[in-house]
Amino acid sequence: MAGSNVYTDAVARLERLGAEAGVTPEVIAALRDPKSTLIASLPVRMDDGSRRYFRAYRCRYNDALGPTKGGIRFHPDVTLEEVQALALWMTIKCAVVGLPYGGGKGGVIVNPKALSRLELERLSRAYMRAMADVIGPERDIPAPDVYTNARIMGWMMDEYEAIHRAKTPAVITGKPIRLGGSLGREEATGRGAFLCIQELARVRKLEPSKTRVAIQGFGNAGYHVAHLLQDSGYRIVAVSDSQGAVYSEDGFDVDSLYQNKQETRKLRGVYCEGTVCQLVDHKRISNEELLELEVDILIPAALEGVIGPWNVDRIRAPVIVEVANGPVLGEVDAKLFEAGKIVVPDVLANAGGVTVSYFEWVQNRAGYAWTLEEVRARLTEVMKRAFWETWELASAKKSSLRSAAYTVALRRIAEAIHAHGTSDYFQEASP
Ligand code: GLU
Repeated sequence: MAGSNVYTDAVARLERLGAEAGVTPEVIAALRDPKSTLIASLPVRMDDGSRRYFRAYRCRYNDALGPTKGGIRFHPDVTLEEVQALALWMTIKCAVVGLPYGGGKGGVIVNPKALSRLELERLSRAYMRAMADVIGPERDIPAPDVYTNARIMGWMMDEYEAIHRAKTPAVITGKPIRLGGSLGREEATGRGAFLCIQELARVRKLEPSKTRVAIQGFGNAGYHVAHLLQDSGYRIVAVSDSQGAVYSEDGFDVDSLYQNKQETRKLRGVYCEGTVCQLVDHKRISNEELLELEVDILIPAALEGVIGPWNVDRIRAPVIVEVANGPVLGEVDAKLFEAGKIVVPDVLANAGGVTVSYFEWVQNRAGYAWTLEEVRARLTEVMKRAFWETWELASAKKSSLRSAAYTVALRRIAEAIHAHGTSDYFQEASP
């Protein structure tokens, strides 16, 4: 989908769901535009000695509930509008799970796969140098997103510390463990989505062995949710990456697929024992075909805008779990709801990542590291609470889960805005 209308679509959805949530127009007005966005051009010395410039963004969308929080994306299709939409969704997401954070997001227009390791390091450091004035442990805290990872977060933290001449691990999350990262952060987005599916399975009485799942996107989040589902007996019948998809009615061994993809950079229908992989019976299909498969759960886990007016009528899965940010366009929300589909929205389904980012920040500030069991137990508590709060509100309002999640979030943001008291003065003063 063209990046230019993703933000318009996100704001239109906010206005629609804001009206359903019954919050005051002042709250919606506060969220219609970002607080500030810094646009920079990053000079990077390439390995051949030339210098290239990369356009970069950092958007602090809204900080009513706390410092802004959100990842940094490295992708050739990054646009200002996309970054702003992602930052708006972060604002809603942090509020849905009750974190003391506002929302933000960053991005660089770059194909990181075409850079050497050293070029990538220089680019990551240049990003932090350009953005260091708006970033900080109490101001704006970045994290990984599409095509960024723990190593990149480590470089960025290092650069920030060099500028500030102080150890400040809480400035960024999703770091390598040895540099102050949290156990369980890597798997957290996938695990959060898995926890939502487990709760949904309870209400819908889904039997794992009879539940067929298709996953679009096999990055960090897509892999972990697939792995956890398979471990619980679900059948993963289709997986895709940016090149295409593999499909097998019998289901795949997720770890074999992932291991082979890491080694060969290709997604193939294989079963591996150790380092020896064998092709298994499978069909190659396109990403579009994967989205339209007749499966029980469809998990878009790649980029935004993959389900819209052009294919909404062909989506056959009764349950869609949005592990990606914004995979369903706002303009087809109503269609999916009327068709009786359950959509677990991104702002809930993928909130596990930022939740463990919050745990990482808390651990960094306390100077005390938690065990993996502790991280998982707390994540489970947060996700279950948010899931049921959303589910029960949706049942009571007879609304979609997205509408309920936005209501939960917008009420929290509204309370923070009104708690400043200034609008009350005028209400009290009026006759
Ligand atoms: N990029 C992730 C997201 O979209 C994580 C953000 C974070 O941990 O701050 O939710």
